[in-house]
Order: sequence, then C-alpha cells, then structure tokens
Amino acid sequence: MPTSIPHWIDGARREGTSGRTTPVTDSATGEVTGEVALASVEEVDAAVAAASAAFPGWRDTSLTKRTAVLFRFRELLNARKPELAAIITAEHGKVLDDALGEVSRGQEVVEYACGVPSLVRGGFTENASTSVDVHSVRQPLGPVAIISPFNFPAMVPMWFFPIAIATGNTVVLKPSEQDPSAALWIAELWKEAGLPDGVFNVAQGDKVAVDRLLEHPDIQSVSFVGSTAIARYVYETGTRHGKRVQALGGAKNHMIVLPDADLDLAADQAINSGFGSAGERCMAISAVVAVGGIGDDLVARISERAHTLRTGDGRKGCDMGPLISRTHRDRVASYVDAGEADGAKVVVDGRQVTPDGGEDGFWLGPTLLDHVQPHMSVYTDEIFGPVLSVLRADTYEEALALVNGNEYGNGTAIFTNDGGAARRFAHEVEVGMIGINVPIPVPMAYYSFGGWKNSLFGDSHAHGAEGVHFFTRGKVITSRWLDPSHGGLNLGFPQNA
Ligand code: NAD
Repeated sequence: MPTSIPHWIDGARREGTSGRTTPVTDSATGEVTGEVALASVEEVDAAVAAASAAFPGWRDTSLTKRTAVLFRFRELLNARKPELAAIITAEHGKVLDDALGEVSRGQEVVEYACGVPSLVRGGFTENASTSVDVHSVRQPLGPVAIISPFNFPAMVPMWFFPIAIATGNTVVLKPSEQDPSAALWIAELWKEAGLPDGVFNVAQGDKVAVDRLLEHPDIQSVSFVGSTAIARYVYETGTRHGKRVQALGGAKNHMIVLPDADLDLAADQAINSGFGSAGERCMAISAVVAVGGIGDDLVARISERAHTLRTGDGRKGCDMGPLISRTHRDRVASYVDAGEADGAKVVVDGRQVTPDGGEDGFWLGPTLLDHVQPHMSVYTDEIFGPVLSVLRADTYEEALALVNGNEYGNGTAIFTNDGGAARRFAHEVEVGMIGINVPIPVPMAYYSFGGWKNSLFGDSHAHGAEGVHFFTRGKVITSRWLDPSHGGLNLGFPQNA
C-alpha cells in the first residue's frame, strides 16, 4: 500500500486537500511506494502564509540564536545522514554511497551558513563627512521560494535554504514530485534542531504550485533548478512579478582530452563523471572530445572500464543504479537509438544490460558511443542519462570551438599535463565551472555554483558569497549625531565636507 506523502506547513505534516496526487516509485523495483500530494493554490497560499507569519520573529532573532539552530541542524544531519541517504536511494535510485556523498556536499553549505555572522557583516566609515558616519547592513528579503529538481533531492535544496535561513529569511520549498520524501525528513530535522515553526515549509506539487509561488505577492525571491526550458520560464515569470530570481538550467558538459594527458586518469574520470548517478547529474560529463589522434586509444580504455561496471539496485553495492522513471529511461534509450541510426558507433550498449535489481526497474546500463558528430541529437540535446559520446578534434582550437559553440555553459574539464594549455583553456572557455584534471568541478560551498549561457538565468550563482548576496538586501545608513555647529538650512544636494 503506497504511503501518502504530505506537505509540511507551519511545523507539521499536512495531508493534501487538493484531491490531486501523483505516484512515487522505487526506481530499482518499479514499485509504487508513495502517493505525493500535489498542492492547490490554496495549499501553497497556506505555506506562504506560514512563512510570512514566521518572518518578523525570525528576522529579529539574534545571529547568536540563529546560528545555534544551524549548528544543531548540522550536528543532527551529520549524525543521521545515512537515514536521508536511504530515502534518496529508495526514490531516486542512486547508489547509497553516492546518496551519502550528495548529503555531505549539502552539509558543506550548512557549515558555511554557520558562519553567517561574518558573512553579513557590513562596513563602517567614521567621519565620512565632518561628524558624519556611514555604515552598511544586509537584511533578509522575507519569505523565499526554492523549487528543486529530481536529481539531487537533498543537495540542491541545501544549496539555498541554509543560507536563506541563516540570513533571516523564511522558506517555502517545492521539491520534485518524483522524489519528495527527502524534503519532509529535512523539515523534521529542522524542527528537532529548534527552528521555529513556519520558517521552513514544504509545499509538494507540480506546475500549479510553481506558478502560484512565482506570482504570490509575499514571495520575495525564487531559487530554481531544473531543465533549461522551465528555468527560462521561471526566470521570465518570476521577474515579471517583481521577484529576484536565480534559475539554474540544463547542461552539456565536455571533457577535452589533449594528447599529452594521462589517458588512464582521463578514462577513469570519464567513467566516474559520465556514469556516476546514472548520468543524472547536471555536472556529468556527456561529451568527451579526444584531441589529436588519441581517440581510438582513449575509447578502448573507457570501454574496458565500462564493461566492469555493475548496474543494479543501489542498496546492493552496485556501481550504478536505475534511472528516475520508465519514461525517462525510454527517452534516454531513444537517444542511443537515434545516435546509432545517425552513424555513431555503439561501443558499449547499455540497452542490453543485465541488472542486479528488480525486473520492473528503470534500467539502462553504461553506454559509450564513438564517432559522434556535432549535428547528431545525441550530442546536441541534454540526455541526462548514462550515455557518453566521444567526438574527435584535430586541434585544441577545434575542441574549444565545440565547447564555446554549445548553448550550455555549466561545467567542463580539460585533461592535460601542460599547465600552459590548461591555463589558456580556463581563460578562454565560456563556461561557469572548469576542472583541470578534475572531471566534476562542483565548487566548494564557500565558492558559488552556477553556469553560463542557457545553464543559468539571473545574476546570482548558488551559495558562497553570491548566495549570501542573493538572500539579502543592502542598506547604507548615513548618520550624524547632534553637533550644533552643523545646523542651519541648506537646500543644495548633500556634499561632503
Ligand atoms: P524539471 O525542469 O522537469 O523540474 C524541475 C522542477 O520544475 C520540479 O520541481 C518540477 O516539479 C518543476 N516543473 C516541471 N515542469 C514544470 C512546468 N511546466 N512549469 C513549472 N514547473 C515545472 O527538471 P528535472 O527533470 O527534475 O531535473 C533535471 C534537470 O535539472 C536537468 O535538465 C538538469 O541539467 C537540471 N539540473 C541543473 C542543475 C544546475 O545546477 N544547473 C542542477 C541539477 C539539475
């Protein structure tokens, strides 16, 4: 019997009242394990009302008291993260180790947010004009919305809410309806950590909930992560309603391998970054560009490794789990069919996989396509599955042109032992996050995460200094304390003296 997966509003679980639900599946068995509530406009309004009511009290809670809650949340999360990882694996399908890694990367942002007193510290200038002092502060925005994708049900929300909460905002999180349970577990952890009711709310749902958050007059900002088409829509709609919006979209990440690279390292990392989490990472490498005649050698090394991977249930110690849904699995497989029909060579065929998991799981094994050409759909489109395409380029310039010509600019990596070439690439490439002999260059929490071009709409990247900036508004206060010598009337524009 599927369990019902409710909302979390004002510090408590709330069963859905809209009459609309959608099934949640265990990707490794295909079994329907839950029915998640899909919020109506009224239910979203209730979540926003809770966040609005909690805002004045939380905004005025001292930094000392706010950070005490954050530290407790961090300790609880650290101690109990295997529970959260198990929830992620059960709904998303990624293997347990990977789910634990996801939680740990989210935890880094909590740790960063624990330093909020120094992150929001303003400046002070004494005697800017005679007897006039100036200081700056950063204040919270109010209730903020976070809308997250299926592929990181814990880490992506954690890119945003620790900083939002630490800086004094209140939150309504709309998780992906495909793996909604992690958000509820996190909500309960916040409660245990002592966060006041209403500061963190979860409205489960679909487009109805997203649209209401985008137009709700009390919502001050929207942090969205998902596919490019929806990210663009969220950015345009949210900003039209006067909100601050950061909308992170899709990706097509290239790994360039220069002839002088350590090819074993490059092959290992192509496998790790292409097939980890079944390729359902926005920083996954999906296109390997072999430069200057090393293609056959590199493909042989990647293929040899790909054949050793075990695909199966993430709870059984396999290397790679299932995809998120049957529909998505079929869509990804159709790209492999299209690539083959277009003339790419299927070197490793994940469509033939024998998984260690349920018969009805959403399986597709690691797939390696060679001789992919830039016009093929397997290259032009974001596939978001365990499909690695290898392209060949004669020169570094040709490889760079491929990356810079792509509509996405999320992440990229170069493999080389030539420091000058790597430095030039980092300078010239039009991408937000770059790895040098590092395949998935996800920035640490104290830097900011975000891509260029169609991989991000808005001005602010996630977490780090840009995250703090996004969730706060600046104020500058110019003050003069009573000094009779500066009295008198003067209608001119204030000038310094
Ligand atoms: P998605 O765009 O389908 O869904 C993202 C969110 O939008 C979900 O909460 C979903 O409920 C909501 N949504 C779906 N359709 C909507 C609609 N028509 N109107 C309004 N809201 C809608 O994305 P997904 O499949 O859950 O996640 C995978 C995508 O996310 C990939 O494209 C991936 O590259 C991207 N992603 C990007 C980053 C990044 O940092 N750039 C990180 C993770 C994932």
